[in-house]
Amino acid sequence: MADDKQTQTYQGYEQGPLYPANDAYSLLLRLIRNCPWNRCSFCPVYKKQKFSIRSVEDIIKDIDLVRTYIDRLLQENATPIAFDQERIHSIYTGFEIRDRVAFNNTVKWYAAGMASIFLQDANPLVMNPKDLLFILGHIRDCFPQTETIAVYARSSTILQLPDDTLEQLYKLGLNRIHLGLESGSNLALNRMRTGVDRAGHIEAGKRIRQTGIELYAYVVPGLGGVDLSIEHALETAEALNAINPDVIKIRTLGLSPSTELAHWQLRGMFEKPGDAMIATEIRLMLEALDNIQSRIKSDHILNLFETVTGKIPHDKEKMIGVIDRFFELAPQERILYQIGRRMGFFKGLEDMEASPQMDQVRLACENYGVTPKNVDQILDRLMMRFV
Ligand code: SF4
Repeated sequence: MADDKQTQTYQGYEQGPLYPANDAYSLLLRLIRNCPWNRCSFCPVYKKQKFSIRSVEDIIKDIDLVRTYIDRLLQENATPIAFDQERIHSIYTGFEIRDRVAFNNTVKWYAAGMASIFLQDANPLVMNPKDLLFILGHIRDCFPQTETIAVYARSSTILQLPDDTLEQLYKLGLNRIHLGLESGSNLALNRMRTGVDRAGHIEAGKRIRQTGIELYAYVVPGLGGVDLSIEHALETAEALNAINPDVIKIRTLGLSPSTELAHWQLRGMFEKPGDAMIATEIRLMLEALDNIQSRIKSDHILNLFETVTGKIPHDKEKMIGVIDRFFELAPQERILYQIGRRMGFFKGLEDMEASPQMDQVRLACENYGVTPKNVDQILDRLMMRFV
């Protein structure tokens, strides 16, 4: 277990930089700062940021501060409909302790119905289990109405948890884990310095599922590079088949210039597959998913299609059909879709038809000088905005 507790005095409510897309309206509670592993070659998020575990006292103070704000909002009978800037400001200035980050987070959460909480940053389960259980108990006491409490986690951390800790965490409300599976290929996992192998992912995934905690498994098409593309697809499917996650989240590889992986690419040590190869990879993976009941979600702008979404096995052919239709497009149409997608105009191929933005996409293609040969390079540059 990592133990690098910060001893300085309370600096106020903290909010980390990252949360899953479906936690945009969750209350964000920061338990740890940054990532205790921080070695994955493809990940830019916490590089050069020092890892630390926040003190239990500070975390409790954050929770209590939010509770105070919630009580006042309830007292004032504040309804989201009455949330104009002036009203929010007057409620805020009425407090003795004023913490703008905590207040904004609370108002957003209150307006959304206070249904979910996300514990930050990268892997809070590295905390001392007793501390975690205490914090979860306090959250439950303060916000008994909350339906979902979620965290990001690493498989190796799940495997190191003492027996029955997961069950205890679940009983106290932790009911969703976002697990960075990334790949089922040992070669890819090893090259990316993820510190875990396929067997570890499978065991950790199964443990989470057996406990009853909802499992979101994140996979990264493109992570195997050109050389490992096929085994990355097939072995990822193999791992997913063994785990049967509740949700499989597709998050296509984007290269951030600050990562080790981007340096490898510049030096010719890694070749990122282009859109067509990645689409083929996703198709292969979908085809190989078998005997599981997972939902597939592709709701990230880095993905070529947000419309590859549905439940396995029921929607498998429909999802494969989305990819096949892309390959049926004429080369110039394909380019228009790829560029328009990464400009944020399309979620799926059907959005191109009668899109009011098509002229903008055509103009952008002209300005960028996009051709079938250079489209992937141009897309890599466009996608850097989203990594
Ligand atoms: S464990 Fe997650 S947050 Fe940490 S370096 Fe790897 S991908 Fe990034």
